[in-house]
Amino acid sequence: MFQGLMQHHPLMISSILEFAERWYPNVEVVSRTTEGPIHRYNYQQMGRRARCIADALAKLGIEPGDRVGTLAWNGYRHMELYFGVSGSGAVLHTVNPRLFAEQLIYVIDHAGDKVIFTDLTFVPLLEGLADQLPNIEHFVIMTDRENMPQTKLKNVLCYEELLEQGDENYQWPEFDETAASSICYTSGTTGNPKGVVYSHRSSLIHALGASVPNGLGLSGNDSILLVVPQFHVNSWGVTYAAPMNGCKLVLPGPAMDGASIHQLLDEEKCTLSLAVPTIWMMLTGFLRESGATLPHMKRVVIGGSAVPEAMIRSFEQDYDVSVIHAWGMTETSPLGTLNFLMPHLQDLDYEAQLPIKLKQGKSVFGIDIRIVDDENKVLPHDGVAFGKLQARGHWVTSGYFNDDSQDPVADDNWFDTGDVATIDHDGYMMITDRTKDVIKSGGEWISSIELENMAVGHSAIAEAAVIAIPHPKWDERPLVVAVKEKGATIEKQELLDHLATGLAKWQIPNDVVFVDELPHGATGKLNKLQLRLDFSDYQFPDA
Ligand code: AMP
Repeated sequence: MFQGLMQHHPLMISSILEFAERWYPNVEVVSRTTEGPIHRYNYQQMGRRARCIADALAKLGIEPGDRVGTLAWNGYRHMELYFGVSGSGAVLHTVNPRLFAEQLIYVIDHAGDKVIFTDLTFVPLLEGLADQLPNIEHFVIMTDRENMPQTKLKNVLCYEELLEQGDENYQWPEFDETAASSICYTSGTTGNPKGVVYSHRSSLIHALGASVPNGLGLSGNDSILLVVPQFHVNSWGVTYAAPMNGCKLVLPGPAMDGASIHQLLDEEKCTLSLAVPTIWMMLTGFLRESGATLPHMKRVVIGGSAVPEAMIRSFEQDYDVSVIHAWGMTETSPLGTLNFLMPHLQDLDYEAQLPIKLKQGKSVFGIDIRIVDDENKVLPHDGVAFGKLQARGHWVTSGYFNDDSQDPVADDNWFDTGDVATIDHDGYMMITDRTKDVIKSGGEWISSIELENMAVGHSAIAEAAVIAIPHPKWDERPLVVAVKEKGATIEKQELLDHLATGLAKWQIPNDVVFVDELPHGATGKLNKLQLRLDFSDYQFPDA
């Protein structure tokens, strides 16, 4: 091979913060703290403190490769750990505090965490679990001496006191770019959560991929409100992409209600924000009730579950904010596809654009996707054929941490996402279901998501889930489990008649059951596994 003569530098996460510190030193990082007040500083101060915490961790005995857990909201100290822990060669394990107690114990133990950094909010939670976490050498409470709580936890340290012991002249080490940088566990609706291990290289390239105009289109003109939690796939990679682009960063801490989110969007003149649909539901509800507007916002990124049509309309038509619909998962770092309209689609009128905006979008360079049938035969991009969605690329997992039970990339590195999708001739991918949720009726597939979307399209339905119930003749048939809107009255037949208006006869569910609430998992998604268990004895009236 005739070699190029360019320099080779390992892609280090620390280099992102070094860059921001040097070239965007005065750009602000604003945090709503768990203690209450708003905290402000800049990338220069973040850089200095991240070096101090990296040095302090080394003095505490943390070595390269050791795992350091966090139970924390989005905030400046959590950012310092993102760079301080990974930058030193240790591995940041961002624990999702919404996991059930047994899952929390499982992931902390499975990851092999030695130290846990916790926000004040989660101290009582950890007190309840500490007896079952014998390998944790230190609990570091992320506050100052003044706000340190009384606690039953043993081996407790105060973040600010620990940080003071670190040297701000600490030098970031350079090492193999494929070394692990952070671990995030999948939300685990089936079996135990599984650990996805990101590397310095994958995180840095993902942040570059996320930044491009066909991605999130980031620039130094952006002020980003980062609502998506730092314990959920590195805040969709924006913890790295924001300093990489010199963006102002606004971190909302524990306050996720509409009024608190709006206050930050308004006062910090945010141009971009990212979150799951549930959060935006709360914000648009607040805007409607209060009459408030979004004068500074230009783009809103929505992902994690499908975006309802009414939400796209509301942001774009009522508040003049463009929606970027995105799809991804823990195993894909997470960005897989993002939706922007190609030039020939921009000429269409708004109603014709909407069905395209509802799709999950197109790949960005660095990650490739395909759809295949049950025999792994690649299906065409015709917008009709649907099959198993697979992904591969620089920031797609090659396997799970300490888990040999399966090889998720058996076929030439194509990772099976567990989603079912179509891809149209312009390359727009649309999720039609999860593989395990699709209803297989007499050889045909019925999309549970399509039925759910139609059910919630009825004004009396607040939330709906559709699950497969075994059927003697058709193998499986759909059952709708629905929650009524507060104060609304609706009978089964009325909902079935409503569904019949948009479906072929064989797609119409066999029955409807109304419930007071539906089960949700740790990331707010419907827990269909639980629902299937709840309905394991259910039989159709006609079966
Ligand atoms: P997680 O690993 O917890 O982020 O979950 C990833 C899963 O969430 C994906 O495999 C999809 O099933 C679902 N998901 C993510 N984004 C979207 C979206 N925009 N539309 C529909 N489902 C989505």
